[in-house]
Amino acid sequence: MPLALYLINILAVIAGNERFDIIMALYKVLKMIKKGINKVKNLYSSIVKAQGNLKVIATIHNIFEINEINWYRLERIQGSGLKLKKGYISFDVKQKFRIKRINKKQQSPCICEDILKGKKRPIDCRLFAKDCNPLDPKGPCMVLEEGSCNIYYQYNHLEL
Ligand code: SF4
Repeated sequence: MPLALYLINILAVIAGNERFDIIMALYKVLKMIKKGINKVKNLYSSIVKAQGNLKVIATIHNIFEINEINWYRLERIQGSGLKLKKGYISFDVKQKFRIKRINKKQQSPCICEDILKGKKRPIDCRLFAKDCNPLDPKGPCMVLEEGSCNIYYQYNHLEL
């Protein structure tokens, strides 16, 4: 994801998913916004190296080629994704199991897309805390503990 954000000129901070890591990342994001800086900052250098994992990168380039990709609930970004090279096409699950693209009309009223872009808040979703909650999530933002809707569900009642 950081590469995609870099390509569309959005600032990003790479961090672990522990609470302290997230607080540090938010602090860094706010500092960059205040200074008007759009870059990708790595606060997780113990795990995420600037050059990446060279062995894994070599393996990926043997199997995949660079492609345009539709980031889930964001947008299509040229050169931000990978597709299987011809020699590995028999492993393509979309072809093997004839998976069709989801029709827009079949999509749920989940507004994770706008929440991830900062255009809306979880409470703007008509499913929030009613049909959609951590025990019965209807969208990806509610599934994991670090999801925007999940965090809002847990802490929205707190006065900050
Ligand atoms: S995850 Fe749930 S509450 Fe959040 S936008 Fe999607 S449907 Fe709405």
